[in-house]
Amino acid sequence: RLASMGELAGSIIHEINQPLAAIAASAAACRRWMAAGPERLDRVLASLDRVVEEGQRAGAIISGLKSLIQNVSAESAPFDFDGATREVCTLIMSELARENVLLETDFAADLPMAFGNRVQMQQVLMNLARNAIEAMRASPARRVLTISTGQQGSFLSLRVADTGIGFAPAEAELLFRPLYTTRQGGMGLGLSISRRIAIAHGGSLHAEPGAGGGAVFQLLLPME
Ligand code: ADP
Repeated sequence: RLASMGELAGSIIHEINQPLAAIAASAAACRRWMAAGPERLDRVLASLDRVVEEGQRAGAIISGLKSLIQNVSAESAPFDFDGATREVCTLIMSELARENVLLETDFAADLPMAFGNRVQMQQVLMNLARNAIEAMRASPARRVLTISTGQQGSFLSLRVADTGIGFAPAEAELLFRPLYTTRQGGMGLGLSISRRIAIAHGGSLHAEPGAGGGAVFQLLLPME
């Protein structure tokens, strides 16, 4: 786990160099426009805006790393898988309504307790649900988020399916690569952190294209 964290940190450092270079370049441009006289105030302001934007981007990357480190040291205990799932569904209700997404649930009855960190499991589900909502922005006709729970061997299973843009079968592993993103303003950390959480629990997180389009993510966590 430490080795893969080192790898992640390496790519984050690489990523932070970009906003830093942009900040330095924009500050230099700003200085040149100011030295040229007061009539190019518009250029001065545009350069400063870029400095602010890139600074915020670097900050966001740092907080992504911070949450990863916090995630790694969290404690495990038995918890109610079904209750934790329902709680997240309630939390995202207003977001779903705002985005015109229909939520369908299929919760297995009498599931055994899970073993792990309840908050982290909820973070993973929240992240999967948000990604699903994001992926459905481009498909206005039918937006359905399906969350289902069940049991698979000695694991508890959580499936999150959507009717969004989906991805090609060959991309399924690429999505989990740190910093991989196709979203404007995306950081590409959500899925890699989510998978790390699943693996740290002795479970797994996988993606596959949905049978009728869209995407399906499956989280497996050990039972108590
Ligand atoms: P981010 O959301 O910042 O891009 P993630 O690690 O959460 O980072 O996701 C990485 C990429 O995986 C996304 O940019 C998107 O291309 C793809 N992806 C994630 N969830 C879905 C989904 N439900 N449907 C289609 N593509 C997805």
